[in-house]
Amino acid sequence: MEMISTDICIIGAGPVGLFAVFEAGLLKMRCHLMDALPQVGGQLSEIYPHKPIYDIPGYPTVKAQELVDNLLDQIDPFKPTFTLGERVEQITRQEDQSFIVTTNEHTKVHCKVIVIAGGLGCFEPRKPTIERLEDFEGRGVAYMVKNPELFRNKQVVLAGGGDSALDWTIFLSEVAEKVTLVHRGDTFRGAPDSAEKVFNLAKEGKINLLLKSNVVRIGGNGHLKEVFIADQANEVTALEADHLIPLFGLSPKLGPIAEWGLNIDKSAIVVNTEDYSTNVPGIYAIGDINTYPGKLKLILCGFHEAALMCHSAFKFVYPDQRLSFKYTTVNGVNAF
Ligand SMILES: Cc1cc2nc3c(=O)[nH]c(=O)nc-3n(C[C@H](O)[C@H](O)[C@H](O)COP(=O)(O)OP(=O)(O)OC[C@H]3O[C@@H](n4cnc5c(N)ncnc54)[C@H](O)[C@@H]3O)c2cc1C
Repeated sequence: MEMISTDICIIGAGPVGLFAVFEAGLLKMRCHLMDALPQVGGQLSEIYPHKPIYDIPGYPTVKAQELVDNLLDQIDPFKPTFTLGERVEQITRQEDQSFIVTTNEHTKVHCKVIVIAGGLGCFEPRKPTIERLEDFEGRGVAYMVKNPELFRNKQVVLAGGGDSALDWTIFLSEVAEKVTLVHRGDTFRGAPDSAEKVFNLAKEGKINLLLKSNVVRIGGNGHLKEVFIADQANEVTALEADHLIPLFGLSPKLGPIAEWGLNIDKSAIVVNTEDYSTNVPGIYAIGDINTYPGKLKLILCGFHEAALMCHSAFKFVYPDQRLSFKYTTVNGVNAF
């Protein structure tokens, strides 16, 4: 696989990782962002996209997803590159002090500086108790939709009752040959207008909606072939399926970050507040992932940390240059 080369590799594409691209760009440093989730935005896009946020300076109120979209617009001139849907597993130091960052899918990024903006860690799927579920992971069972095209003209069973289950049922009803949504209740936790769309799709015969039901077992030979569903009366029916997508939420875990030789205190990376550097030269930690006396897990604090971090990281990217501080009004936002 071809090596991606950049100045700064940012692990975590939440709001703080995204804003770091802007601050780095002002100092002519290129960034590559990596995230285990299939989309950018971190907690904002994954947990509370529709929630208003009231403490972003200059915005009396802004919806979480709108803030993420605005951040993407703001960093666009700096042409960041992305690896999404892959978890960073390993970092290795090279002889010339640069780093190689490797993901679970074997993507490799060569960089001079690593910025960990990993928030609360990787979001791991909450797995329901379904017999033989793990036997079919990657063989028909997936806990996230990374590439909807994978489901084109396929028979897909989704399980869950939150926003993700509703949103993907609606989306995949246009893509898959057959979509079945299995939910243990008869009302949904997700947004009421999405629930209404799902009930309408079921009425129109465009999806198969099984309420008060649970997936209890799955089967197949090498790849998923059948999903067994128990109804309220505990009667089990077999359904032909190419894919099962259980969507029961995600919970964050520090994961591989704990193995990288960094000083960790209570699942957070200890940093020097002068520049948010870690105990390893060339590795910084910003946003929710770091800890220091007085730390507040707020987006605006992460933005501040990103600015200071970039001014320090400059010396690893341009060791022969002196950095003098200038306002954006002096230099403008000059893209590459
Ligand atoms: C319900 C709720 C409401 C909130 N409301 C507010 C509010 O009103 N105002 C406010 O300021 N803050 C609020 N917060 C807190 C705010 O969301 C966080 O401070 C903010 O998301 C931190 O941003 P971040 O970029 O540091 O991390 P995150 O948003 O957590 O993003 C980190 C990203 O790193 C990725 N990652 C982690 N490890 C790896 C790895 N090994 N490989 C690849 N990717 C990895 C994760 O997948 C994730 O996408 C709220 C939080 C919650 C849960």
